This record gives sequence, structure tokens and C-alpha cells, in this order.
Amino acid sequence: MSSHTLLIVEDDELLRHALKEQLAAQGDFSEIMEAADGAAALAIVKDNVFDVILLDIGLPDMDGREVCTKLRGAGVRSPIIMLTAADSDDDTITGLNAGANDYVTKPFRMAVLLARVRAHLRQHSQSDDAIFLVGPYKFQPAAKMLIAGDKKIRLTEKETAILKYLYRVGNKTVSRETLLGEVWGYNAAVTTHTLETHIYRLRQKIEVEPSAARLLITEPGGYRLNP
Ligand code: CA
Repeated sequence: MSSHTLLIVEDDELLRHALKEQLAAQGDFSEIMEAADGAAALAIVKDNVFDVILLDIGLPDMDGREVCTKLRGAGVRSPIIMLTAADSDDDTITGLNAGANDYVTKPFRMAVLLARVRAHLRQHSQSDDAIFLVGPYKFQPAAKMLIAGDKKIRLTEKETAILKYLYRVGNKTVSRETLLGEVWGYNAAVTTHTLETHIYRLRQKIEVEPSAARLLITEPGGYRLNP
């Protein structure tokens, strides 16, 4: 479980570096990225997927809660933990309303923050039981099923994994190589032809007009799931 990615959005450079250093030392993360303000955070999530985001509420360019709303609007579904300066119930409530999953009040002990981060990582990885909306369907990864009204579409394990990964990254294009790696494993000896075959079958199942896909879109750089 050391392949998680984390984003720290915090303008206080000393705190940001201390957080990065101490969290990196725990071994839970393969990559930790930093952003010093809201605009930088919003730019970074365009090209990166994070398993957890730590988001300071007091940023120089915008309120952390506003950043949170914008992250959700940009399709970010990872757990967001707000770092709040004051122990104010108002901050907490509006933070959670903005789409944050949790909050930690400054000053906090690293052990407390780490426990929260790990709890959210666990929940997030088990969120297979959740139901996601994909176009007209309710997508239940754990049941490998798409449901639209009375219609139930059974998916194979790979089809489920492809949809799950595309859903997880949000409305973003994923390259064939990345999708191959994520679904079949980075050491698997499969070619993009295998992936294309699976995409073809998946479209036969989920698209109204498989030849003019509206959900599982082919982009110049790969594939994208249209939410
Ligand atoms: Ca701050």
C-alpha cells in the first residue's frame, strides 16, 4: 500500500515542507505534490490524480472552501481533508458543504493527521460498494453491473476495471498505455489491441450507438469517460 498519491495545498512554506517530509517518511505515498495557492492546485489536478488532498482553508488567492468546490466541479473525487486555522464550527460546516470529506484543526499533531489520511485512504479504496453515476447508468463496481431503470448490464472484470479507472480520473483523457497498465498491470504482456477489443465490447454494451460513442469517448491521446 505504498503507491498512493497526495497533494498538499498550503501557502505556509515551512508547514508545507514539514508536512511533505513527515508524510513521505511514513512510506504510504509514492508521490507527494505541493501547491502554494488555489490556482496552482486547480492546475495540478488537470494532469494528476490524487488519492488524498490536504487543503488549507486560508490561501492567498482564494478561500480553501472555494478551491474545494472548484476541485469537485473539475471532477476530483478523491478525499479532501481541509486544514482549518480556527476551531470554528462555521468553517467546518461550510467546508463540508463545499465537498470536503473531513477537517483537521491547526495546530495539529502529525499522528492525528496521518490517522485521518489513512482512514480516508481505506474508505476510498473500499468505495467499490458505492454507486457511481455514469451517463444514464448507476455503476456498481462491486457487482460489476450497470443499471438503468429495469435494464441491467453485466460487465466483465476488465470492463469494470476500465470503467472504474476512467471514472476515478474524472472527465480526463487517459492514454492507452496508462489504462493498460492500470487494468492489466504494468508488467503484463498485453498490447493496446487487447484494450481496444475490450473498449469495443464495452461500447456494444453501454452505448446507444456504439459507432458514435457518447459515454466512452476516443480522444487523440486515449480514452475519456463522459460523465
Ligand atoms: Ca494558510
